[in-house]
Amino acid sequence: MSTVIPIQTAAATGCQTAPVLVERGQREVFCGLTGIIWLHRKIQDAFFLVVGSRTCAHLIQSAAGVMIFAEPRFGTAIIDERDLAGLADANEELDRVVQQLLARRPDIKLLFLVGSCPSEVIKLDLSRAAQRLTSQYLPDVRVLNYSGSGIETTFTQGEDACLASLLPVLPRSPAPAPGAAPAQLLIVGTLADVVEDQMRKLLNGMGIAQVAFFPPRKSRAMPQVGPDTVYLLAQPFLADTARGLDAMGARRLGAPFPLGSEGTTLWLQAAAQAFGVPQARFEEVTAAPRARAEQSLGRHRTALTGKRIFFFPDSQLEIPLARFVQRELGMDLCEVGTPYLHRQQMEPELALLPANTRLSEGQDVEKQLDRCRQDQPDLVVCGLGLANPLEAEGMSTKWAIELVFTPIQGYEQAGDLANLFSRPLARKLKLVA
Ligand code: SF4
Repeated sequence: MSTVIPIQTAAATGCQTAPVLVERGQREVFCGLTGIIWLHRKIQDAFFLVVGSRTCAHLIQSAAGVMIFAEPRFGTAIIDERDLAGLADANEELDRVVQQLLARRPDIKLLFLVGSCPSEVIKLDLSRAAQRLTSQYLPDVRVLNYSGSGIETTFTQGEDACLASLLPVLPRSPAPAPGAAPAQLLIVGTLADVVEDQMRKLLNGMGIAQVAFFPPRKSRAMPQVGPDTVYLLAQPFLADTARGLDAMGARRLGAPFPLGSEGTTLWLQAAAQAFGVPQARFEEVTAAPRARAEQSLGRHRTALTGKRIFFFPDSQLEIPLARFVQRELGMDLCEVGTPYLHRQQMEPELALLPANTRLSEGQDVEKQLDRCRQDQPDLVVCGLGLANPLEAEGMSTKWAIELVFTPIQGYEQAGDLANLFSRPLARKLKLVA
């Protein structure tokens, strides 16, 4: 059974001051286009038009799976050799593609032009294109742009860039009276609808009535944001979005991320404290789902306690996941790699990690592979490009991207999250038997 540490006492402990191995070498990561896979499912009247190459189209198509019967809400405007050679006017081409798309799909209310490596190489100004197209298609359709380019990014940054592009069009909420309590709680980061519904029910049950989610399910239901807003990050990869919300006057509530029973409790507790929810009410609302989460974790704890795990930097979920597997499943951490260490956002997580945790930021992939081979962990969490070679060397792996695609947040998903770690080990046992 894990115990809940009050947020205040968790400060200035754990591995907050531990040295971090910073590496800036060759990296093995997906690009930000990948975020379209979960974003297009979330914002149901949006369309993501990648302005890119056949490689970009192939990446999106294969990552999303082939959708034969559904009209997808993403596509690629292919930049071909004539565009790259400067022989065609790419803007004219883009306007034509958008016109055809919107004529065929009146259900689209929000269109994202998503930049890629090729569009950046030919210096296609998608922000001007978005402004031009918005003035042409408003009020029916708003056109925004962001970059999903793979140059110097990691794959979850696509969501950060997308949400940050939405901030300028969010309605502003009025300034509260001096000393007034926050008027609304904003949950920031894409969550599966089912998780969102569970979180809303718990928060409403505590008496927090005004709860909004960003991104919303419909583009016409964008939340208001302003100095009366406090927000909780539901995903750890939203640094730019958080900075933008801060600039709009919203206040971030520091908390661990809602992974596992403990993480979810501390996350909800941060909201409860901000809204003055009595502790007894908090306990009453969370007791039953927390007990279910604890019970579902028990099965996996037996299989995972004492097993050693190595995280390669990929999704930016690594630190919260490491905290979850170490504290709630009893796993031992070999190395916790993260593409970027956003200290401010990660403070509550770092406070819960063992003081001697080997943290690394960035990547020099060959050196990191050497450390991994030396550690011989029972399980490696890594990107797709590393998983197959490591499996061939006899290691068990878990694809980091699967942890982003799967609903893993909240009490009811704690067992599913643990299962993602125990399944590869169970599979290996079966293969050996
Ligand atoms: S890395 Fe660049 S070229 Fe490759 S799929 Fe991503 S955006 Fe397209």
